[in-house]
Amino acid sequence: MKEAIMYDSSKSGLIKCRICPHECVIFPIKKNFLQQKTGVKAEIKKENLGFCGTRINLAGKLYTLNYGRITSLEVEPIEKKLLYHFMPGSMTLSVGSFGCNFRCPNCYNWEISQTASLVQNKPETIFQIKKSFPEISPTEIITQALENRCASISFTYNEPTVSLEFNLKTMELAKKAKLKIVWVTNGFISPSALELILPYLDAVNLDIKFFNEKLYSSHSKGDLVPVLKNLVKIARRKIHLEIATLVMPKLNEERNILDLADFIKTKISRHIPLHLIDFSAPISWQMEKWDEPTKKEIVKIWKRLITEGLDFVYADINTKTKNTYCPHCGEINIERLDYEIERKDDCGFCFNCDRRLFIRE
Ligand code: SF4
Ligand SMILES: [Zn+2]
Repeated sequence: MKEAIMYDSSKSGLIKCRICPHECVIFPIKKNFLQQKTGVKAEIKKENLGFCGTRINLAGKLYTLNYGRITSLEVEPIEKKLLYHFMPGSMTLSVGSFGCNFRCPNCYNWEISQTASLVQNKPETIFQIKKSFPEISPTEIITQALENRCASISFTYNEPTVSLEFNLKTMELAKKAKLKIVWVTNGFISPSALELILPYLDAVNLDIKFFNEKLYSSHSKGDLVPVLKNLVKIARRKIHLEIATLVMPKLNEERNILDLADFIKTKISRHIPLHLIDFSAPISWQMEKWDEPTKKEIVKIWKRLITEGLDFVYADINTKTKNTYCPHCGEINIERLDYEIERKDDCGFCFNCDRRLFIRE
């Protein structure tokens, strides 16, 4: 196991992790556990693990459980990461591990993200989970990206913040290999950890769960304020940014999404693309019986956001709502059919009126 970074320890063995705003205080497992290492027989309690289930306090030192433990490794079109204005048509190597610092009951990737909750009554089984995923080195990831002619590596599927140590090492090597770096994230990361990753990032898709403080804590067990601060900070660093939000009846509806759009326009820029994701009940973690939005409702929100002044709004429900339209003359400049794209733009400018489309190649 690798020692974690960014934590404070005390003489009593208590540890405070500083990777995300949860700032978990984690209790030590006693020394005899160290001799057993894998610790299946040792009694591990919930309080020995961080909230994300990826960090464990062994006798006053914090270790990561998911370093190099890869749950998914896929070559995909960059559009699958909900990045429509970043290197359109390129391929990315998507890398995911396990664990998350949120608890969204609507999560689609809960089998890998919600491991901490899944082992709640038997925390020691986190070691079995860890071992069930293959160990891959940062170098192997770079080799795979290059062999598959990927332009970028995307840290995605589960929250990349909780694999900070492994992702930093991989990003360092990726930069040397001239690969671009993408994070698909919930944005819930501490200011100091964000500073560590910012120099490496080329593009970010940040998922805003709800534009509502109460729902962030009751539903996702997170906090909206640090997420919004991070969103603004990422945009100011000129890192390519796109935002996603899930449309969910009674939770994240038109009113909340309009408030989010207003924040994007006033605090960042109307050019930032916003992606509407339609909630799917059957694949969710704990909301199988929740109502799903209709396509008509999503198209209504999509139209309203454009009327309200966002330049690029997308919804993956039909070809019309996936295209890139020129915000000035309305001509289609990038047509998307599934993940096939047809570019008609003139190197990032509208072929018809020359308006900038804010595309990074
Ligand atoms: S990264 Fe995990 S252990 Fe660290 S503060 Fe966040 S939830 Fe807690
Ligand atoms: Zn135009």
